Amino acid sequence: MLDANENSLADENDEWFSRYPDPLQKNLKARISAIKGVPVESIFIGNGSDEAIDLLVRATCRPGMDSILICPPTYGMYEVAAQIQEASVREVALNNDFQLDVPAIKAAMDETTRLLFLCSPNNPTGNLLREEDVRALIECFPGLVVLDEAYIDFASSASWVGRLNQYPNLVILQTLSKAWGLAGARVGLAFADASIIAVLNRIKPPYNVSKPAQEAAFRALENCERVDEWVRTLIAGRELLAQSLREMSIVQQVFPSNANFLLVRFAGSGRIHQQLLQRGIVVRNRSNMLLCEDCLRITVGSRVQNEKLINTLKEINV
Ligand SMILES: *Cc1c(COP(=O)(O)O)cnc(C)c1O
Repeated sequence: MLDANENSLADENDEWFSRYPDPLQKNLKARISAIKGVPVESIFIGNGSDEAIDLLVRATCRPGMDSILICPPTYGMYEVAAQIQEASVREVALNNDFQLDVPAIKAAMDETTRLLFLCSPNNPTGNLLREEDVRALIECFPGLVVLDEAYIDFASSASWVGRLNQYPNLVILQTLSKAWGLAGARVGLAFADASIIAVLNRIKPPYNVSKPAQEAAFRALENCERVDEWVRTLIAGRELLAQSLREMSIVQQVFPSNANFLLVRFAGSGRIHQQLLQRGIVVRNRSNMLLCEDCLRITVGSRVQNEKLINTLKEINV
């Protein structure tokens, strides 16, 4: 192996790091293909799904000319990627029940809206989008519909991955950062028609997923039972946490969640956020986002962490 200017002296002790990784992650894709039932040619692996979002915007949007369409409140990276590409961002807010405003989305799209980002379960609201709305939009959108399923492992309904071959303009994003417990490894997945995946592979940095990341992902995917067990525990924890929160007088509303977090409306979220911080508990303040006034987003933790959160809130409550 004298073709890539690696350091062969490092081989013996550190084989793992001394050679460049497989640019197309063949071993990892074979495993993902078997688990998800998607052909290898329809799988892209990125340095987090954030990389897939960035590449999708760069592949489809001409700077200063094209746009993306998003439905706030939602994940922030869609807008960030569009701004970097100088694509404009059209926003059609979710309805008060955090569902899609299908007629308004249809009115806002044209030949220059290249991507429609839908997030289900949505971050930060936690709810699934209605299937018939998603289907209606996929069927009429002139560009690609990107369905972000980062939290699908925690949801009560199935992934759209099984319907991929019905929709040539559908891109599904998933990640190993949440249920799979690998946020630090940075491994994100995109599933789509082989022609779309081919474009992403052509414009990605050659070695976008490091060898340690590929190894960590491969090992995690060998152990699906462990993830199933985590998911069951986290969902049970979510429901317990929701119930305890609903009993507190400082809590105005706990929104139903299909994810591993809860969006919670407090009486005075700023004060609660501050007081939690002072007691060493970090939650995300989402009160500046549309429809999320006075809301904190709380990740479901371990049993001990959930109990500590509740006990701390009870202290603050008095
Ligand atoms: C956490 C999250 C991601 C994951 O991004 P990675 O880059 O894969 O860690 C993607 N989309 C949404 C909506 C998220 O909340």
